[in-house]
Amino acid sequence: MDAARCTLDDAIYQAVRFAALPPNELARKRRFLVCPECRGPAFFRKASRSGQAACFGARPHEDGCTLAASEYEQNNIGPGDDQDILENPGQRIILNFNFGAPDERHNDPDAPVNLGGRGGRFVGGGVRPDAAMHRRLSTILRNLMMSGQFRTSRQIIEIARVGEFTVADFFVPFGAVAAAHDHQYRGYWGMVVSARFGQTGALWLNSGGRDDMSVCVPEQFVNELYERFRITDEEELAGTYALVLGTLRTSQGGKKYVQVEDLVFITLR
Ligand SMILES: [Zn+2]
Repeated sequence: MDAARCTLDDAIYQAVRFAALPPNELARKRRFLVCPECRGPAFFRKASRSGQAACFGARPHEDGCTLAASEYEQNNIGPGDDQDILENPGQRIILNFNFGAPDERHNDPDAPVNLGGRGGRFVGGGVRPDAAMHRRLSTILRNLMMSGQFRTSRQIIEIARVGEFTVADFFVPFGAVAAAHDHQYRGYWGMVVSARFGQTGALWLNSGGRDDMSVCVPEQFVNELYERFRITDEEELAGTYALVLGTLRTSQGGKKYVQVEDLVFITLR
């Protein structure tokens, strides 16, 4: 996408011109971008060190937006886990983390998780093992992005050591975060419009809008996050989707954020 509209000043910018804005202005305006045609949520990505030119993108465009075709990514969304979830709305979903397997490394975020034979233990007595499906965070995020039906479903999701929720209650889009979510443990998700390093070395993933929340990745996790998702430059994070499980907090300055407690609680697409 060559151009995007900024809703702060209602101006349409070409990517080259946007890239030349003073840094503070650019940092502010990139959180308020929409597709000039369909007004879908948009992002700006600076030129990367690897030579990619500055550009805009929008995810998703509205159906029928003519600007969508120009940037459509092959997201490799096929049948499999996603289809399972949508076709089995009565089944409980058990969210899998790699608890207890610290030496197991998944370089491919989509690689199947080895359940290590402990799958049935969460289910409890008397329930058929196939009455629950084990799914990973990345699969859940994909479903949230793809399916409004999933986002609003009453399907039960079970999170080890936390509890049981309905999908509709547990997963909160970045833009829907409200005062009532303060101190609440939820799955917060949505598009990252910019990422920057803070003074402590933590990586901040910002969502769009003035008051929208951010995700804080403490410095100790940054290298591994970069490896896991093959990130070389924080600019590559603009336009990705994130899902993080954690407790929403508000800083003294009024900034809403969730701090990543462990890398198993965050996924990116
Ligand atoms: Zn569009």
